[in-house]
Amino acid sequence: MSEIIYKAQNIKKTYVEGKVKTQVLKGVNLEICKDEITAIIGQSGSGKSTLLHILGTLDTPDTGSLEFKGTELLKLSNQKKAQFRNLNLGFVYQFHHLLGDFTALENVMMPLLIANVPVKEAKLKAKEYLQKVGLSHRVNFRPNELSGGERQRVAIARAIVNKPDLILADEPTGNLDAQNAQEVFSIFSHLVKTEHVAVVMVTHDQNLASKCDKIYKMIDGEIDA
Ligand code: ADP
Ligand code: MG
Repeated sequence: MSEIIYKAQNIKKTYVEGKVKTQVLKGVNLEICKDEITAIIGQSGSGKSTLLHILGTLDTPDTGSLEFKGTELLKLSNQKKAQFRNLNLGFVYQFHHLLGDFTALENVMMPLLIANVPVKEAKLKAKEYLQKVGLSHRVNFRPNELSGGERQRVAIARAIVNKPDLILADEPTGNLDAQNAQEVFSIFSHLVKTEHVAVVMVTHDQNLASKCDKIYKMIDGEIDA
């Protein structure tokens, strides 16, 4: 069995809006392993995005523990959490969230520049990662000059250029046709093998989920392995 890099235990989350309380996560436990793609499936509204945000330290649970390689993330200050995210996590969303005024290359350089990597080095690294996702011929294109599949590949290059341990992807193929969805999945599979990153992918695509190393199913705020 692969090394466990991330362990979430008894994660609970209730949203309160006015007098209405909604318990979205009811004590979720999960383990994420190195060199694996973990799928999270489940109906719309079952709490998948909430869980992913919490795993990404972008939202805080009411109780529980998030142990990442021996560090309890919930004890970190906001500043340390931001630093943790920048160094260890990559995010990919359903909609690419690329910056429209910047080229593919500049978008991929962004996390490196934020991490204070010198511009020249950032440019080389970004090119290398665009090549890894098969976009060497698109480095100077802006998002609106790229296809949906290409944009997602840029988003993946941006998520991985910092060499994170974990990529959190929320329906990364949700906006793509079957062929592009398969291509994006193949890129994740390839990166897991070559870059030794772990991927957690929320998906509605049964076919893709079945190709993952592990599947968790969210049902009404609870999770089944
Ligand atoms: P999924 O990603 O599985 O579709 P979500 O995690 O987005 O589900 O949402 C789960 C439930 O939590 C939904 O009922 C949603 O309306 C509610 N919810 C999500 N985010 C918030 C929020 N910020 N405030 C209040 N309710 C929320
Ligand atoms: Mg969602």
